[in-house]
Amino acid sequence: MNYYLGIDFGGTEIKIGIIDENGSIVTKDKYTTDTTKSGAEIVAHIADCAQELIGKSGIPKSAIKGAGIGSPGLLDPEKGLLKVVTNVPQLNGINFAEGIGRHLGFPAFLDNDVNAMTLGEFFFGAGKGFKHVIGLTLGTGVGGGIILDGKLYRGTSFTAGEIGHLSIDSNGLYCPCGNYGCLERYIGKDGIVTRFKAYQGKGIETGINDYLDNGEITPKAIAMAAANGDKLSVEVLTETGKILGIALASLTNVLNPEIFVIGGGIANAGDLILEPARHELIKRAYTIPAQAVKVVPAALKNDAGIVGSASIAVAKLVR
Ligand SMILES: [Zn+2]
Repeated sequence: MNYYLGIDFGGTEIKIGIIDENGSIVTKDKYTTDTTKSGAEIVAHIADCAQELIGKSGIPKSAIKGAGIGSPGLLDPEKGLLKVVTNVPQLNGINFAEGIGRHLGFPAFLDNDVNAMTLGEFFFGAGKGFKHVIGLTLGTGVGGGIILDGKLYRGTSFTAGEIGHLSIDSNGLYCPCGNYGCLERYIGKDGIVTRFKAYQGKGIETGINDYLDNGEITPKAIAMAAANGDKLSVEVLTETGKILGIALASLTNVLNPEIFVIGGGIANAGDLILEPARHELIKRAYTIPAQAVKVVPAALKNDAGIVGSASIAVAKLVR
């Protein structure tokens, strides 16, 4: 049996795990980055944590074929280089993959966290067995990863997949990316909460107060309320799904994918969002590609980060 190491680097929190060749997690743990340390020290620390985890697992190091590192921010996956890490700027310009790989003694590969999630679902999750897979993560932001003909599509400058910045309204809300009407402004965390608040007190009943997170309206609270039939919450999630469906329809017309795999916190609302998204997709996209494409929730859930990161190595070394 071959094994792969997954390093899910989240700026300050790092999750590390080992998966077997079937994508099952053998062992995992969580670590914290000391952001007062230099870039080189942080690289060494991550490698030490991984080394310790490997030691405790009892798996011979020779059976671990490689490591995949999933990271947010701008990066160069071919060189393994971090370019802009917002919260840990001392890592900017650091060759993360080479540094960690050198400490560990086996090859390491870097890619962004949404590509990692998409690869994880492609090899071991809801996208298994499909060739043309588009992964979306719905959270604070909206990210995308595109697999065409079984290969991750990165584009000329490795920035492909910015599905959150598809324009859905030419005169829409301003987006910090510089554009107007980006998808993310409507179905990212803030977009959902802002729409909910705008509709509150305008005639549709809501008992959202029973579900608040520390007194705050969050997509999670809205999803919980909706699951219990809260009318306004259902309305807002239905609208969220419809807006998602507008973007999926465009992607369907352009790329003719087999499956959309939707992950991230907000996707936990499941069919409350996905059903209106499917409906809108069918309504808007050309019939043939619309009938060919599935819209399904991500399967890997809490393990998506580790399995996805390890899948970066699987993609490089196995397929
Ligand atoms: Zn934007």
